Amino acid sequence: MIKKEDNVIVVAGKDRGKKSKVLRAFPDRNLLLVEGVNLVKKHQKKRTEREKGQTLTKAMPLNSSNVMIFCGRCEKGVRIGSKVVGEGKVRACASCKSEI
Ligand SMILES: [Zn+2]
Repeated sequence: MIKKEDNVIVVAGKDRGKKSKVLRAFPDRNLLLVEGVNLVKKHQKKRTEREKGQTLTKAMPLNSSNVMIFCGRCEKGVRIGSKVVGEGKVRACASCKSEI
């Protein structure tokens, strides 16, 4: 499960290969808002005569299957596993077992 603040890498779509950070997670809809990823241009109409119309770029949530957790030790996108620490379980990289 990918959560807010996780470092991820995009593995599909136009932003493939981009590394970034999760700004927000929507687990019920399987969506993630990732910083600087899936940017959409929005034209803002000028509201007054003196104001200039402008183009804003906005990050849109993307399907969580398009990103993977980025493991700093493996230096690649990895599957998440878990490991037992004391009484509980923590998320860990599935290949090198370092904590995520
Ligand atoms: Zn790893």
